[in-house]
Amino acid sequence: MKKTALFGGTFDPVHNGHIDVAEYAAGAIGAEKVIMVPAKRSPHKNFSPFASAQDRINMISLAIAGRDNFDLSDCEMTRPEPSYTLDTIEYFQSKFTPDTQLYWLIGADSLKDLAKWHRIRDLLDSCTIAVMFRAGIAKPDFSDFTRIFGWSHVQKLSDNVIQTPLIEVSSTDIRNKIATGQSVEKMIHPDVLKYITEKGLYK
Ligand code: ATP
Repeated sequence: MKKTALFGGTFDPVHNGHIDVAEYAAGAIGAEKVIMVPAKRSPHKNFSPFASAQDRINMISLAIAGRDNFDLSDCEMTRPEPSYTLDTIEYFQSKFTPDTQLYWLIGADSLKDLAKWHRIRDLLDSCTIAVMFRAGIAKPDFSDFTRIFGWSHVQKLSDNVIQTPLIEVSSTDIRNKIATGQSVEKMIHPDVLKYITEKGLYK
């Protein structure tokens, strides 16, 4: 089986935490590619992205330039809302041959909302959700999920936890630092920082 890791998020902006954990996860899974799939907006965040869809796409392109195992898809940006992860998985299933196993990467912080994801049981069946460790968040624990997802889904989730390095960075922190004039150069790709500065984003 060929393996491809899909990595969704708002990426507002994309940071070193995203790229480094996804790179590590791809290695752990044995995935040939990581495809970054920026969302128009997150249904689990009570605010809209600060940067435009085009700016977020441009920043991801800069962050992954030269990384042959990374790619970018705008499928969620161009699809009419509401846009669900299950639709994205079905879209990629139609693009790839059936011998490609699709993984959907999420950070451990996203687990708190997982039960609310659209048709989550179908999603758990149609792809492999791989949960990555995240700094400041407890290691993934699915004990409360058995009642909601059923034992076999919980088993599948547990089997696909990836102990990624703990990289203490978030887009929120970056946006706050930029807004208050603090340095973020250790947190994002230099070309992304240049783009943010030139366009005056997150001020
Ligand atoms: P924000 O601070 O705006 O909420 P974020 O830094 O969490 O943003 P998102 O674009 O929302 O970034 O994240 C996309 C995905 O990447 C989510 O599944 C999130 O859990 C994961 N993720 C983000 N940063 C990290 C990190 N440092 N380590 C592990 N996973 C991460």
